Amino acid sequence: MIVVMHAHASRSAFLAALAGAAAGIAVPARARAAALPEMIALAPGVSYVRGDIENALTCNTGVIESAGRLSLVDAAVPDGAAAALQAIRAHSALPLARVIDTHYHLDHTYGNAFWNDHGAEPIAVEGLAAELASAEPELFGGGPGLWQKMSSSLASLKSSRPLAPRYAPSGTTFEAAGRAFSLIHPGVAHTRSDAVVWLPKERILFTGDLVANGPYNAVADSTIGSWIGVLDRLRALGPAIVVPGHGDAGGPELIDRQQGYFRAVTAAVDAAVAAGKDVGAEIPAMRERLRADPATAKYVNDHHLAYSAFFAFHDLAAKIYHERTGKTLARLPGLPPPARCCGDLARYRSAT
Ligand SMILES: [Zn+2]
Ligand SMILES: [Zn+2]
Repeated sequence: MIVVMHAHASRSAFLAALAGAAAGIAVPARARAAALPEMIALAPGVSYVRGDIENALTCNTGVIESAGRLSLVDAAVPDGAAAALQAIRAHSALPLARVIDTHYHLDHTYGNAFWNDHGAEPIAVEGLAAELASAEPELFGGGPGLWQKMSSSLASLKSSRPLAPRYAPSGTTFEAAGRAFSLIHPGVAHTRSDAVVWLPKERILFTGDLVANGPYNAVADSTIGSWIGVLDRLRALGPAIVVPGHGDAGGPELIDRQQGYFRAVTAAVDAAVAAGKDVGAEIPAMRERLRADPATAKYVNDHHLAYSAFFAFHDLAAKIYHERTGKTLARLPGLPPPARCCGDLARYRSAT
């Protein structure tokens, strides 16, 4: 059962007043309280704070209580992390233990320093270091990277800093006081080093971006054919509750729907290739067919989103075309160039 936990009104107002006072600005308590993200209970001691990828570039943040401390899943960006902590503190005063980064993308790691400053040690699966090094060479003794580039478009980066996680092997299990949860790298998918967090007793799975519940598949680092197989592995764990990286939690059907979407796009690309059509020219029609199908409509990117081009359908179709044929799709006139996660995010924001 999934229950939205609304912060107690008076406590929210109290926190809002504190936040306003700390910022030195007069913020109406009600407006401030309304901006608090939802904290949604999944089981006793397990919940998540709902992120807002559409407007604020934040991911969902899992919250797992264990032995009197809280472990978090995904760090979000610094201001998203601050909002998530405010939501958590409306329900719990327990100290923080760790924050697990499910993959290297900025919307899942840039809050590391914020959480670390609040007592949580950032942790990720070992393979993440290589991808992080390509995006943030500064962390590995190199020059400025994506963090510096993004600082002009994400204001909260100016008051924080990049921070690498401690690395742990896939299969690492945190176990205390009757609660166990594991960090598992299930294979190459959304990135090369995704990890999920699995609670076998509660059968709750935090998937990071291996599952989205909405039009939030950023595929620039992805291998779609392998991702489809990874989703089989997640299904085989037998989760009862699935918390995606972005969008609402649900049951195991979220895994099936995500996989079904990738299979549908793959089938559409294969059919166009088999018919000898110009696949690039077919993409707009493909997109409209998938938007008209209730099984896939929710996953096709919607141009009203602030970051819509980042989740562009044509990038997914082009990626699948390349995987299936080895050929690179010529861009259609008028389409932005393919997204490179996450370095092109600032450019995409200004282009859309
Ligand atoms: Zn991602
Ligand atoms: Zn994400």
